[in-house]
Amino acid sequence: MRLDYIENYKSIIEIINEHKKVNNRDIRLIVVSKTQDYKKIVELEKLGQRDFGENYLDEAREKIIQINNPNIVWHYIGSIQSNKIKKISENFSWIHTVSSGKHAHKINDVCSKLDKVMNICIQINIDNEETKGGVDIKEYNNLSLIVRNMKNIRLRGIMAIPKVSQPSVESFAKMKDLYDRHQYLDTLSMGMSKDYMSAIEYNANMLRIGQQIFGKRT
Ligand SMILES: *Cc1c(COP(=O)(O)O)cnc(C)c1O
Repeated sequence: MRLDYIENYKSIIEIINEHKKVNNRDIRLIVVSKTQDYKKIVELEKLGQRDFGENYLDEAREKIIQINNPNIVWHYIGSIQSNKIKKISENFSWIHTVSSGKHAHKINDVCSKLDKVMNICIQINIDNEETKGGVDIKEYNNLSLIVRNMKNIRLRGIMAIPKVSQPSVESFAKMKDLYDRHQYLDTLSMGMSKDYMSAIEYNANMLRIGQQIFGKRT
């Protein structure tokens, strides 16, 4: 098992490096380590992996404390609950799932007290699914204006999780279009285990991959 995830990781890195070479652009891989033992994170960090994504605050905090490695950049990719924003802000450098002004204000307040600037992505509910977080694409402008005025938040990009029951390319195309229209953004966070190859085709520059590395989550 140990060999497996290391090998899977290395083949994804190879694909990414190949694209970097051919297209001369950077792609950052977030290894999504939710439900995985912290020791695997330690092993991948030794191979040079810096970015790790977690969804569940308590589980993440345990790992962050246990691993205690300042080289690691922790990305919060789970849904946000107001009462958890303080702890999320204390433990993470990025939040990919911001989808309301209310949450953004709270993140900004907490980060002001912590004297840190939080990197965020606005989550776009790209296929208008009721069960998913994120704002409607039409609401992007409104929320981005609010967020860009906040001193302790740096709006880096947009993030989406396309519908599973359909090919993701149309959703990726819409995300790419939104991204291209806003030059101040530097992060297009999309592409997971099943669709990261096509996400790359649509200029994703931050992939979030778990199962393709660690195997199916149960
Ligand atoms: C779990 C998760 C991922 C990773 O999904 P895999 O299928 O394991 O690659 C990516 N992004 C978000 C927001 C997630 O919750």
